[in-house]
Amino acid sequence: MKPAPSVLALSGGVGGAKLALGLQRVLPPGGLAVLVNTGDDFTHLGLRICPDLDTVLYTLAGVVHPKQGWGRDAETFGFMDELRRQGGPDWFLLGDRDLVLHIERTRRLAAGERLTQLTADFARRFGVPTLLLPMADSEVATLLDTDAGALEFQHYFVRLRCEPRVRGLAFAGAAQARPPEELATVLRSAALRAIIVAPSNPFLSIDPMLAVPGMRAALRAARVPVVAVSPLIGGRAVKGPTAKIMGELGLAADTASIARHYAGLIDGLVVDEADADEARALGLPFTVTRTLMRDDADRERVARAALHLAARLADATSVPTAAASTGRSP
Ligand code: GDP
Repeated sequence: MKPAPSVLALSGGVGGAKLALGLQRVLPPGGLAVLVNTGDDFTHLGLRICPDLDTVLYTLAGVVHPKQGWGRDAETFGFMDELRRQGGPDWFLLGDRDLVLHIERTRRLAAGERLTQLTADFARRFGVPTLLLPMADSEVATLLDTDAGALEFQHYFVRLRCEPRVRGLAFAGAAQARPPEELATVLRSAALRAIIVAPSNPFLSIDPMLAVPGMRAALRAARVPVVAVSPLIGGRAVKGPTAKIMGELGLAADTASIARHYAGLIDGLVVDEADADEARALGLPFTVTRTLMRDDADRERVARAALHLAARLADATSVPTAAASTGRSP
């Protein structure tokens, strides 16, 4: 029997998947569960597409496109070429190998399987030892209120390349959604030691999960330290619209805003060396490391830093007199 996961990570797509891979590499097989955002999911060409789940799956399976961080390596685009020739919508790129997952997922959902079940089966077939959990089995859709009007997520993100100014966000279907029972099992397990919020976009990737009723309470009820890795380095996003959206929502793109955003959820924060001074002023336990993850050594280092901070926080709460100190990770 597989061991129960000792760590639960919360992840969106590319940024989150890098940390999830670091965690998978430093934990024993089966030691990790990843709760993945499904607010980006949509139905396109009749196919159910789950971009974040697939990015995490491909990354953990070692078959992700190494430069893009999403999609498959060694991919071909015969389908897209033909679709374009037939005048079909070509703004969302679907590789030939990638297409198989969307077709299989659509077929299996139509046959009555839950997203959680078929995702676990995909992971098994890819040889991934980690438990992949969608945030809900029912559909939730991130909607953006922008200066270009109301936009579904993929239209904002891919078709319009995040150019419209964001005024607000909503998560359609979230109120009816429920965390999957498989998540409750992970959170109730005595093996669980830490919850790590990956450096994913807080607004587009983590907030949809927290919008599922009962999610926040379930995470806190696990009574293990919750540690986030900041997605900002020196006030800038490594990739994507995190800093841009923060500015548009009237927030400073800095560590304090990230800490404030996750207030009540997290017990500690992992920040980059560039943000150490800012973090010192927060009054929140933190640790400092280089958080840019370019290769596996980086991913493992950031994963270890997050796990060490969580372990330190767990020790601090079990020994009431020990104050959580701050310091540098290896
Ligand atoms: P998406 O769903 O594909 O947009 O990916 P995520 O939401 O998971 O991640 C996007 C966020 O990851 C952005 O805010 C990036 O700044 C952050 N990110 C990407 N790579 C890194 C990295 O190497 N280190 C850190 N600290 N953040 C990163």
